[in-house]
Amino acid sequence: MDLSSSVLELKGVGEKTAITLNKIGVYTIRDILLHFPYNYILYPDPIEFPEIQEDTLVAVQGIVGTKPYFKGGRLQMVTATITDGTNKLPVCWYHTPYIRHSLNTGESYIFYGKVRNRNGRFTLEQPAVFSEEDYQKQQKTLQPIYHLTPGLTNKGFGKLASQTLQFARQMQDYLSDELKERRNLVDLSTAYVQAHFPKDFDELLAARKRLAFDEFFLFLLKIELLKTEKVKSLYRMQGQETILEEANKLPFTLTEGQHTALLDILNDMSSDTPMQRLLQGDVGSGKTVLAFLSMLYATTNGYQSALMAPTEVLARQHYEKLLAFCKEHAPFTNVYLLTGSIPAGQKKKIKQALLLDPTAMVVGTHALLTEDVSLNNLGLVITDEQHRFGVNQRQTLTEKGSLPHILVMSATPIPRTLALILYGDLDISVIKTVPRNRLPIKNCVVKRSYRKTAYEFMYKQISSGHQVYVICPLVEEREESDSADVGTYSALLEKYFKETNREVTIDCLHGKMRPQKKQEVMDRFALGEIQILVSTTVVEVGVDVPNATVMMVENAERFGLAQLHQLRGRVGRGDFQSYCIFVDGKAGSQKNERLEILNTSNDGFYIAEQDLKLRGPGDVFGIRQSGELDFQIADIYHDSDLLKDASWEAKEILKKDPTLSEAVHQPLHPILGI
Ligand code: ADP
Ligand code: MG
Repeated sequence: MDLSSSVLELKGVGEKTAITLNKIGVYTIRDILLHFPYNYILYPDPIEFPEIQEDTLVAVQGIVGTKPYFKGGRLQMVTATITDGTNKLPVCWYHTPYIRHSLNTGESYIFYGKVRNRNGRFTLEQPAVFSEEDYQKQQKTLQPIYHLTPGLTNKGFGKLASQTLQFARQMQDYLSDELKERRNLVDLSTAYVQAHFPKDFDELLAARKRLAFDEFFLFLLKIELLKTEKVKSLYRMQGQETILEEANKLPFTLTEGQHTALLDILNDMSSDTPMQRLLQGDVGSGKTVLAFLSMLYATTNGYQSALMAPTEVLARQHYEKLLAFCKEHAPFTNVYLLTGSIPAGQKKKIKQALLLDPTAMVVGTHALLTEDVSLNNLGLVITDEQHRFGVNQRQTLTEKGSLPHILVMSATPIPRTLALILYGDLDISVIKTVPRNRLPIKNCVVKRSYRKTAYEFMYKQISSGHQVYVICPLVEEREESDSADVGTYSALLEKYFKETNREVTIDCLHGKMRPQKKQEVMDRFALGEIQILVSTTVVEVGVDVPNATVMMVENAERFGLAQLHQLRGRVGRGDFQSYCIFVDGKAGSQKNERLEILNTSNDGFYIAEQDLKLRGPGDVFGIRQSGELDFQIADIYHDSDLLKDASWEAKEILKKDPTLSEAVHQPLHPILGI
């Protein structure tokens, strides 16, 4: 058994558990080690029954009063009642049928779980159960809390994690003792053990620091290795005037930022080394049209170009827009779409066509390069919204033997000092302003009671010809969760408008839909056939429907600020006043501090900064940035000092060993395999 062994080899894992684990992306022992807790808690002292409050996590000691009752079916549920002698409290578990066998009627246990108000009655949901003695023992250490899926319990996953620790302990470190001492880092194996089971907060922070350092360090090594290759450009281009003339024919005037960036790009592509440029600009700053103009430059010089997007929806949209663009500016150029979901037969035809088409433009997802597509005249590669993907892909291209011009487009706001490190291998162009005709988005943060008002507002916008996005966090209905989901939500909206005799076309979109279906819905929304699109965050990245003027986000408190900012960027893209409604799903009148930041600012840089200030120590592993710089643990804002240290160390190592040929291990990192 080793790190790559299947989870099936662990004690207590059968076929069924393995399938459940697969659902959260866990297939091997390595995956378990990498499935870090997203939070840690210290179990609190049990409280008295009358002190129990709605929506809180509590520990209570109680005697099992009734025999636990099991209800099968799609939603498996076990219910019981516990008592403190005077008061009673219903308890329930979902998808955890076996729990009933570990509870004896008349015996006392400690229950730790969430209190919900179910039809006016408090219920303790999905509590972990302990003997009194056991609980006291647990109270002495931090408890890891994992992201799970129905069928897994936190306790169960913890047991699996502890089984895998023996492998963590055997890992050999690749960092020198000297470096670790200089940067005050713990051993690799210690880091993995302590990330899952820290004795206290100090151990946890030490583990996190080491893991974050590794992420930065390995990433930066990769970048530095790429940087050292200075080659001659095989694709020197000329005729910039033609492109500038075409730019003048666009339905709008380029902003100053766009114009300067375009000149940077054209100059790079005309020089004798390949372009390696980052184009940075907040959502809505108009990066896409620059991508198209660059592709046009490649075409007019007799070369192929490729544009890659992180999602199929976005690739498809870029494709449609590029088609329209070419109709105006390059009527004889063929544009192809190549994504994972295109049927094999059709794909084969496209690949063959590409072989014979020296000036073709291709739009696709990352499948584009990993597949055996041969683009033997490829002069320009553009990646939209995903830098890390850009790095790997450049490696692929270099390995294939030719280095085309590279343009990476990003909407992630990063301070310049950090950008210089993270994009150390790239030249940077920044578009600082959004087009002038844009009206700033009007925001509001509201509670659920405001929904009706919001729907009426939407209807007004729809009546004047506009469209609306509603974002919900979950796809499928899960009864243990009260957050809105796409299916139920669109039904609810439909009912609302029907009852008031108004006709509104509503449809939904989520990640689990077949790609074909996703495209179809997105197309219909873009064409204005759907008026309200109820969606998960699949629309988050880059989608552009300028006619949409309202974005309503349900359970906004569950999303990261960066993600909410990206979502908001889907509206306010045309000449119309746009609105963003953040619905704070949490009961009570208290204002959500994080959402207030979005309420008062539309500036991505400011939001990123404030987000950082608000993060508490409890967030150590829980922070999820969305977008291209999504390291698993490290956070570029939070760990900016560590990033600088890692950058220094990476350069230092390469000074002594420029190709890393003397490295003790290959791959360097036993878990990340880099
Ligand atoms: P992003 O930078 O977020 O990728 P897009 O490239 O999708 O932004 O552009 C957003 C919208 O702004 C698009 O509808 C695009 O046609 C429009 N746009 C781009 N540049 C300009 C401009 N200079 N003036 C007016 N509208 C523009
Ligand atoms: Mg974009």
